[in-house]
Amino acid sequence: MSFDAIKKVETFIISIPRDVPYLGPLREGEKINEKGYLIRKGNRSIYPSSDMSMLIKITSESGKIGWGETYGIVAPHAVKAIIDDVLGPVMVGRNPAEPVVLHEDLYDLMRVRGFFGGYYVDSLAGVDIAVWDLYGKQMGLPVSALLGGRRHASLPAYVSGLPKATLKERCDLAVEWVRKGYKAIKFAAAVSDEGIVAEMAALREAVGPGIDLMVDLHWKFTSAEAIRLIRRLEAHNLYFAEAPCEPEDLEGQTIVARGIGCPLALGEELRTVFEYRPRFEKRTMTIIQPEMGHTGITEFLHIGRLAHAFHVDTIPHASIGIGIFMAASLQATSALKRVPYHEYQHSIFDKNLKFVTGKMGCEKGHYILPEGPGLGVEPHPSVFDYVIG
Ligand code: MG
Repeated sequence: MSFDAIKKVETFIISIPRDVPYLGPLREGEKINEKGYLIRKGNRSIYPSSDMSMLIKITSESGKIGWGETYGIVAPHAVKAIIDDVLGPVMVGRNPAEPVVLHEDLYDLMRVRGFFGGYYVDSLAGVDIAVWDLYGKQMGLPVSALLGGRRHASLPAYVSGLPKATLKERCDLAVEWVRKGYKAIKFAAAVSDEGIVAEMAALREAVGPGIDLMVDLHWKFTSAEAIRLIRRLEAHNLYFAEAPCEPEDLEGQTIVARGIGCPLALGEELRTVFEYRPRFEKRTMTIIQPEMGHTGITEFLHIGRLAHAFHVDTIPHASIGIGIFMAASLQATSALKRVPYHEYQHSIFDKNLKFVTGKMGCEKGHYILPEGPGLGVEPHPSVFDYVIG
C-alpha cells in the first residue's frame, strides 16, 4: 500500500518578549539573569522572562504540512537537538496515518537508557502533535474525529492566575473575570504574599459563593502542613487543591488526598501513562492535569482514558506556548468524557492568539474549539520573526 510518507522534520525555537513575566511582576530578590531566566522564590522554579516555544514542522512527500509544539521553555536547544539528531531522521519515510505506532517506536529508541521522561518525552510530545496534525490534514478531518469523536462542542475554561502585585488588585481582577462570564478561578500560592488563607478568604468575599475557586500550592508543603492548610481553605469552599507536596512524594500526596474534604489535582509535571499509573492505583489524586506540551496527543489520550477507568476527572494543564499545543489539547480534551474544565492561561493564550491562524479563542467562560482538518490552527507567518534557533 502506498502512503504519503514523512519527508522532512524541522524545528524552530521561538522567543516572544512580554512586558510582565509569567506569574506577575518581579518580587524582592528576583531578577532576570544573563540568559533571560528568572527564579521564582515562591516555588523555587526557573521561568523564561519571554514566552518561549518550540515548534515542529513535518512535511510529507506530497507537500502537506503538520505542526507541533512542545514545552521547550527552558533550555529549548536540548529539545531541538533530540528532534534534529534522533527523532527526525527516524521519522523520515514513515506513515503519518500510524501516529500511535510511530509514537511507540520513537519512545522505544531510548527507553533502555532510562529516557522515559523529561526532555526526551517533551520532544516526543511535539513530534506526536505534528504527526496527528498531518494525519488529520491527509484525511480532511479534525484530530478530535480521529480520536473517536468530539463529545464537547466547547469546553468550560477556568481562569488561571491573577498576575497583579497586590491582593486588592488580584481580587479586582478576579471580579473582572467573573463579570466577563467565567465561573472558575485559580490563584497561585507562590505569589500569595499576604498569606494563602487570607488570599482565599478575600477572593471568596470578592467573587461571591457561586464561583469555583482553586489554589495551586506549587509542591511546597509536607503532607501534614498541606492537610492543615487545605482544611482552612475548605472553610471558604475550595474547588480543588493542586500539587500540595513535592512532585516525587507520591505517598505524601496520597495522604493529603485522603485527609482533605475537597478534590486533589495533580499531574502537570507527568508525561506518560507509566508515570500516572501508580498514582491512579494508589488514588493519589481525584483530578488529573495532563499538559499537552509534555504528553503529546497519543499519551494524553492514553492517560485520559485511564483516568476514566479510575473515575478520575481530567482538567488539562495549559501553559506557555503560542497556541499549537493548546489547539492539540482542546482537540484531545473534546474527545474525553469527564472534563469539568480546561485551564485558561489568559496572560499567555490571549496575547499569543495573533500568532496562530484559524478559529480558536476563549470567551464568556468557554473555549471556542478549533475547526477544520488536523489541529484546526497553524502558526501565523509573523511568529517566525521571533525564531532564535
Ligand atoms: Mg500548577
